[in-house]
Order: sequence, then C-alpha cells, then structure tokens
Amino acid sequence: MTTRSSVRSQLPARLLEWFRIHQRDLPWRREVSPYKVWISEIMLQQTQTKRVVHYFKRWMARFPDLASVARAKEDGLLKAWEGLGYYNRVRNIQRTALILLRDHGAGFPQSYDELLQLPGIGPYTAGAILSLAFNLPHCAVDGNVERVFARLFDLQTPVKSPDNRRFIREEALAMLPENRARQFNQALMELGAVVCRPRDADCQSCPVQAWCLSLRHHTVKQRPVPGKPEKMTPLEVAAGVLVRDGRILIQKRPPGGLMPHLWEFPGGKIKPGESPAEALIREFQEELELSITVGEKIIVIRHSYTVFRVTLHTFWCRLKDEEQQPKLCFAVDSRWVR
Ligand code: SF4
Repeated sequence: MTTRSSVRSQLPARLLEWFRIHQRDLPWRREVSPYKVWISEIMLQQTQTKRVVHYFKRWMARFPDLASVARAKEDGLLKAWEGLGYYNRVRNIQRTALILLRDHGAGFPQSYDELLQLPGIGPYTAGAILSLAFNLPHCAVDGNVERVFARLFDLQTPVKSPDNRRFIREEALAMLPENRARQFNQALMELGAVVCRPRDADCQSCPVQAWCLSLRHHTVKQRPVPGKPEKMTPLEVAAGVLVRDGRILIQKRPPGGLMPHLWEFPGGKIKPGESPAEALIREFQEELELSITVGEKIIVIRHSYTVFRVTLHTFWCRLKDEEQQPKLCFAVDSRWVR
C-alpha cells in the first residue's frame, strides 16, 4: 500500500535513476551556471521548451553574462526577446543584472530571501536558482511538478488552492535526497513535461507508477483539479496601417502603462457605438493629430492574453493631406518604415 512515508523513502531513487537515463539534452543543463539557470527559467515561463531552446542559444551568444545584459540597450534586449512576449520580464532581467553587479559582486546571492528581493524573481525562480544552480535543498514547484503531485496523491481539490500548494511544497521538500536537489528537481519537472503530460499521461512508461494513487483510482484524466477559470474581458481594438510613399507609420508606446516602449501601429480601443473605422479616425487625430481616410480591411485577429480577449480590426489608411506630419500626443517616437 502507498503511504506518504513509502513515497518519500522509495520514489526519489527510482525517479533519479530514470532521469539519469532519459533526461533531455537541453542547452542550460550543459555547464550549469546561475546566470544560465536564471535566464532559462524566465524564458520557460509561459513558453514551450522546444521554442525556448532557440531563444536561449541566441540570447547566450549575444548576452553571455550579467555584464553584457547590464550594458545592453533596451531595444537590443527587446529584440532578442521578440516573440517570447510578456516584455516586462526582459526589463526585469536588466534591472536585476544591474543590482547584482552593483550589490552582489556580479554574482547571485545564495539566500532565498535575498533572491526574492530581485525584480522578476518569485518563489519558484528563487527555488530553481538555489537548487539547480547551487544544489541547495530548496524545492522548485512549477506547473509540471504540481500536476505530478496532484496525480501521485490524487488530490481532489483545486491544485492551486493554498492547502494543496502548501502540501506539495512540503512533500517536494521532504522527498529531496541529500545533496541531490539539482537532479531531483529537474527529474520532477522532466517527468511532468515528458511523461505525466497534461492531456495524455504515459502511465505505462512512468517510473513512479507504483506509487501513483490517481492511476490506481482511475482518476488520472480528472487530475489535477483546475481552479475557477479567470473571467476574461473582451476588448474590441482597431489598428491602422498608414501608408505614404511606400512606407508605413509605427509609433513607440510611452514608459509606464501597458506594453511600455514597444512599437505598434497607431489605433486603440473602439468606444461603444463606434465602428472600427470611426475609432481609427478618432485615434489618429487624438494620438498623432493626423487626418486620415480608412480604406480596405486587412484582417481581423483574435488573440487572448492574461485576462483579455482581444478582437483586433486592421485597416489600410491614407493621409487626407500627404504633407501632414505626426505630432506625438501619446507615443514617445514615430517612424516611417519600409
Ligand atoms: Fe502521472 Fe501516470 Fe505517472 Fe501517475 S502513473 S505520475 S498519472 S504518468
């Protein structure tokens, strides 16, 4: 019979042995360093491992250490991050690099509380740096690890409830084999990523099936129990591609607020009662003091991020009078680009 003590005493050795044989060859696992662990963990938030491999290699070629990140121009960092999204992460990377150079002798503190003081580093990333980079006895519970534990212990309530989070952290810590935090935490994450997958768990080849309660109870497909879905806010937005002499106008968003310093097509939210074309005429006037005519529709794009469900209406636009120059009422820069 499975008991918590038998799981704690027997599972780790079995899992470590499986990981030794089956682990994927990932670039941040070669010549481990706190810097590589940190960058890979930030990139892996919200992005699949396969995609991160490419971004990680390119980043390391361009920014091989903290000093190179600290002295980089923000546009260069954003360019290297382009496609990963959640651009505040890259700004936090630079802020953290500057703090580490200034206050920590160009290294990472080996204290959980000190790591939590750094921009963009939360409990998970702090645990990952301490365990994966320094092999210190901390747990690193990401979504993969949560799923493994929810199934192993057949947790019948939402996996992200405070009680379950506490339980999973306690169990993950209790299982940590002495001096093997680096390997063990990676093994747990790897198991969740490649075997105990969200929709199609491969229980037949799972190294810890002997201890898995949800396998025994035939509840694998029902675990983990999700929490209440977040309420999504629908947004109707219009963007205009303004063409003049074969070039198009883009503008740079201001610091602070949503998506600071990113380049965009002018436009904005459609007000109640407005058509997308009317919204564009108003936005170009308000943001750039440009009078435009709205032409053919290009495409309607539907895209969800965080708690927003965006419908983006895009149109070709022309200047009413080609001599007009954009005035920056909202943006901090604008350019005509090919
Ligand atoms: Fe996940 Fe299946 Fe392994 Fe249980 S037996 S941990 S459900 S893969």
